[in-house]
Amino acid sequence: MFSIQNLVRPHILTLKPYSSARDEYTGTEGIFLDANENPIGSALESEKYNRYPDPYQRKLKEKLAIIKNCQPAQIFLGNGSDEPIDLLFRAFCEPKQDNVILMPPTYGMYEVSADLNLVITKKLNLTSDFQIDIDAVLKAIDKNTKLIFVCSPNNPTANSLKKVHIRLLLSNFGGLVVVDEAYIDFSKDKSWIEELHDFPNLVVLQTFSKAWGLAALRLGMAFASEEIVQILNKIKPPYNINAATQQLALQALDNVERKNTMVQAILAERTQLVADLAKIPCVVHVYPSDANFVLVKMTNAKRIYDYLVEQKIIVRDRSKVVLCEECLRITVGTAAENAKLLNTLSEYQA
Ligand SMILES: *Cc1c(COP(=O)(O)O)cnc(C)c1O
Repeated sequence: MFSIQNLVRPHILTLKPYSSARDEYTGTEGIFLDANENPIGSALESEKYNRYPDPYQRKLKEKLAIIKNCQPAQIFLGNGSDEPIDLLFRAFCEPKQDNVILMPPTYGMYEVSADLNLVITKKLNLTSDFQIDIDAVLKAIDKNTKLIFVCSPNNPTANSLKKVHIRLLLSNFGGLVVVDEAYIDFSKDKSWIEELHDFPNLVVLQTFSKAWGLAALRLGMAFASEEIVQILNKIKPPYNINAATQQLALQALDNVERKNTMVQAILAERTQLVADLAKIPCVVHVYPSDANFVLVKMTNAKRIYDYLVEQKIIVRDRSKVVLCEECLRITVGTAAENAKLLNTLSEYQA
């Protein structure tokens, strides 16, 4: 039987967390002389930021829970997705002893966070069609394997990973399966959030950085069981989401329609971009995309990358990444930006 108590590092289980002024008195009325704040105001004229923010972002989680169809207690918010990724390592992985499974080519932060925390990585490459090598991954699990990172749609390959494979991992692995859905808004797949009640070892990551268009705010979301969220809350920096970000994110959540309209526009541009790229002589293959970017195999990725930079068009050179030989990763831009890219690429002389 899965038990989070058996999975969490023992010293985290017994840790006495920092208790902030806002933890010890949660009321909103009164004369607040408990947090050494400036009682007069701030050096800013227009906005009042002199009080510490809600450490648990209650208003934001309430609104988000309605949109995501889950409970507020199943939500953890972090300073970007980077923060929940790091906290998962710190909560569940003993340095130099435990290991995590990564499936390259994938998002680079999982490995950086593992290395930073001195946690061993087991890398099981995706298959040639960029799907989970399920037998190899299941075989690689040992008693010290604590996390498996699954990125779907996957960065940089842009495809979704098969649900049957992810479900097999969830039902056969005693550690946590972390499904990173940074690009879920651009995909036809449903979120794994709706499966949280079936899988106590599931953690779903999403972000405000892509579809919501709020990369500068640094706001990442993790959805998991209440028990897992409590552990992350216990070890996070007390006021990890600042008040300005909480207020702006609340405003953004009132504008789901605007987000959806932008997603539709980006998807229309993606369809056009994929079709037009395929006609260009230096393009060898355009991989299908469920995200807001495309992976493109070129005749000579490095030279074409340099050529684009000379023309002030910056894409991502992924040609050194396993299974992505000669590939560039191109974000879907505006219609004008994509037209410029296509025009420039079609003028490339091999
Ligand atoms: C962009 C991206 C994120 C988002 O990271 P933030 O820290 O929330 O900006 C997460 N995962 C993947 C795979 C990404 O590509």
